[in-house]
Amino acid sequence: MEFCPECGSLMMPSKKGSLTIITCKKCGYCRDLSKEDKSKFVVKEKISHSPKDKLIVIEDKVDTLPKTREQCPKCGNFEAYWWELQTRSGDEPSTKFYRCTRCGHTWREY
Ligand SMILES: [Zn+2]
Ligand SMILES: [Zn+2]
Repeated sequence: MEFCPECGSLMMPSKKGSLTIITCKKCGYCRDLSKEDKSKFVVKEKISHSPKDKLIVIEDKVDTLPKTREQCPKCGNFEAYWWELQTRSGDEPSTKFYRCTRCGHTWREY
């Protein structure tokens, strides 16, 4: 449902060749609907996909990460997966992260 921004009446969609336009029956205001819907759809898809995909990638990689002898501060286990992350500015050293193989607790090296 679309309402006219000019007078608030219900707007009716109609075909004009390859275009879909919506027209207000009351004041004659019309908009090219097909163009707007495409751009809206692309933006929506970007937002809903990226955070979820990133999460899945990280979870999948955990089992293939190298292990090291590092004590978990939470449960005291002496084995942890580790990986490095580069901080935003290139001249800072990268940060090491650990994840306990027993309880899954994740921490960073200081
Ligand atoms: Zn109108
Ligand atoms: Zn642990």
